[in-house]
Amino acid sequence: MIELKELSKVFDTGKGSLKAVDDVSLSISSGEIFGIIGYSGAGKSTLIRLLNGLEKPTSGSVTISGQNISASKGQDLRKARQKVSMIFQHFNLLWSRTVKENIEFPLEIAGVPKSKRNARVLELVELVGLAGRENAYPSQLSGGQKQRVGIARALANDPEVLLCDEATSALDPQTTDSILELLVDINKRLGLTIVLITHEMHVIRKICHRVAVMEGGRVVELGDVLTVFQAPQQEITKRFVAQVT
Ligand code: ATP
Ligand code: MG
Repeated sequence: MIELKELSKVFDTGKGSLKAVDDVSLSISSGEIFGIIGYSGAGKSTLIRLLNGLEKPTSGSVTISGQNISASKGQDLRKARQKVSMIFQHFNLLWSRTVKENIEFPLEIAGVPKSKRNARVLELVELVGLAGRENAYPSQLSGGQKQRVGIARALANDPEVLLCDEATSALDPQTTDSILELLVDINKRLGLTIVLITHEMHVIRKICHRVAVMEGGRVVELGDVLTVFQAPQQEITKRFVAQVT
């Protein structure tokens, strides 16, 4: 389970301070697909960076499976961060490495011996539907295939949580659907918790169980996806729902 308690992040912009995340409290259950939607600048990426320990909160805490990641340091922080993995809008692959070598990379970093790495990479390649493309370079793949590599790499060290920051925003609608279906499949098969950030409500409707709407760093609405679609409370939520109805 992920627990955010009175979480805030203030940036010093040079011209004053900016509250990118403002007093957010919520819990996400194990195995849940949790969506966060908001317009540009709402604080979504900052929130996700707090979740994986890339940013330190100004106040409040982030707890993942009982471990307070915002208060951890050194070895403890590294351990906590191993529970959390991430995929990105622009995939962030290593362009001079093949599919196989990209997926292998986090295993190398974690010190998994070569003999074990091969079998794990093959398993992951199968899981994301890229069998046969192991030796291709990222530049030889479609956008959807690149994101599949990103997903396989993110899963290599068996995380408990997968964070997706606009992971389908660079993809066409059909490819978006196929990546979302893969995420659902992984969620069901591995029991992985998924936190997905987007500004597209159809992505939320397609795979999320619950959704939080962010505006100005705050969570202004939170509920089951069905309920939020049927009876949006806030103006901003109504606008998002109107995108797809
Ligand atoms: P987008 O949809 O455009 O990705 P977002 O919801 O992810 O937007 P964030 O990137 O979290 O928004 O940014 C929230 C606010 O915090 C913005 O006003 C942004 O300019 C500011 N911000 C983010 N990171 C920093 C930083 N390192 N230093 C100063 N300000 C920052
Ligand atoms: Mg962002």
